[in-house]
Amino acid sequence: MIDYSDNRYSKLFDKQKSQQLAMGRTTYKERIKKLKALQTALEDTYKQALRDALYKDFKKPQLEVDLSEIYPVVDEIKFVNKQLKSWLSKQKVDTPITLLGSSSWIKNESKGVCLIISPWNYPINLTFGPLVSAIAAGNTVILKPSEMTPHTSKVMCDIVNDLFEEHEVALIEGEVEVSTELLKLPFNHIFFTGSPQVGKIVMKAASEHLTSVTLELGGKSPVIIDDSSNLDKAVKKIVFGKFLNVGQTCIAPDYVFINESLKSAFIESFKKHLKIFFTENPSHSDSYGRIVNQKHFERLKGYLEDAISRNATIAIGGASEEKENYIEPTVVFDLPEDSELMQYEIFGPILPVKTYTSMSEVLEYINSKEKPLALYIFSKNKKRINDIINNTRAGGTCINHNLLQFQNHNLPFGGSNNSGIGKSHGYFGFLEFTNQRSVLKQHTLGAIDLLTPPYTDFKQKLVDVTMKWF
Ligand code: NAD
Repeated sequence: MIDYSDNRYSKLFDKQKSQQLAMGRTTYKERIKKLKALQTALEDTYKQALRDALYKDFKKPQLEVDLSEIYPVVDEIKFVNKQLKSWLSKQKVDTPITLLGSSSWIKNESKGVCLIISPWNYPINLTFGPLVSAIAAGNTVILKPSEMTPHTSKVMCDIVNDLFEEHEVALIEGEVEVSTELLKLPFNHIFFTGSPQVGKIVMKAASEHLTSVTLELGGKSPVIIDDSSNLDKAVKKIVFGKFLNVGQTCIAPDYVFINESLKSAFIESFKKHLKIFFTENPSHSDSYGRIVNQKHFERLKGYLEDAISRNATIAIGGASEEKENYIEPTVVFDLPEDSELMQYEIFGPILPVKTYTSMSEVLEYINSKEKPLALYIFSKNKKRINDIINNTRAGGTCINHNLLQFQNHNLPFGGSNNSGIGKSHGYFGFLEFTNQRSVLKQHTLGAIDLLTPPYTDFKQKLVDVTMKWF
């Protein structure tokens, strides 16, 4: 058993632990009050500070901060605000006739002390989004954002210190070592968003305390464009989905399958939309950000060099500027299967394209890989769309667009196996931070009370009748 007594965060943990039942007893109104305070901080008090911080961290355009960082959290708060009263009310369920004289219900109760570890790519969205669910469920929370976006982490820390007592929500900034220390503590739930590699470390650490986990991970999300689709519209949407946040999006298209016959039209349309979105030179466009840091810049540059060394075709882009961590939007064809771009999650502005002649080869390829976080289909053919869905597995699917599945809080968001365990958003996120406690109350003596020892022939007959008829 791990001794966590000298862990430097154990005092904070103990403080939160001592408050967990009090937090769990708070009413839905008290929880909503906290969430509304967070909403005001995001929409008003700290909005400009957050925009400035994300610009300093990786030149994220202001509109993208509003659209993809602040709005999703505010929208989640509004959704929870409408539903929380009913989520926290007694969920009555039927009781079978064999338990006549009893009633049954589910009590959605808080899990206790929770840890949220988040990545750098959408630091506000992926730190405060799960926090909304955790607060709604009545937990105390320790947040550990990524060390790679320090300016944003600093502002998020100010917000947390401003709005919450340390014993309810605390944010700890710092490097990987901070997560390592925190992971030694016996949390009641860990919500991790990040890579599958680190997800395994988190799950292993959680197993020491049998802590439940939500793992929101990544992977290679494919796009299929068939010959019935409106190609130009599909390409426009993919250019948006792929280059939002410079491709550093967990559900961004990782690679595209197009029907062989569409290849040259695809390239022409892609060039056209890139130019409309980001001008002839995206490095001068205010709508195009940067790679988060030099380490990731070099990783992506390495993928491109590997592709070139294997005689892949750079159909569009390929340029980069090291001192700016800038990589041009890039489209690559003819990649061998063992190239780095086809082996690893890209998480950057490089899009491999594969051509196909039959849909069965596409499905076979996708099914030979880990289950993706997202699978996108551009097609007008209903039968084909159903065939693709029924013959593949993925965390989520968007038909005739990409990324949008994230924004509907009525849908569970998450992966499957290598792309994740558990779901977030709306009621699904709330449930991750909730223990669904089953309660059965006996009002009058029931049939079961006739069956206590000593077991007699009469009681055996009663059991026989019950098993036959009920
Ligand atoms: P990462 O796994 O490197 O880091 C995520 C978090 O884990 C950070 O806070 C980091 O400090 C911490 N961490 C890193 N190494 C650790 C270790 N050895 N022990 C404990 N903690 C550690 O991921 P990242 O680079 O920040 O983000 C990119 C990855 O996240 C991609 O794979 C992407 O697909 C995935 N992602 C998934 C979602 C989703 O919702 N499913 C969303 C965004 C990003």
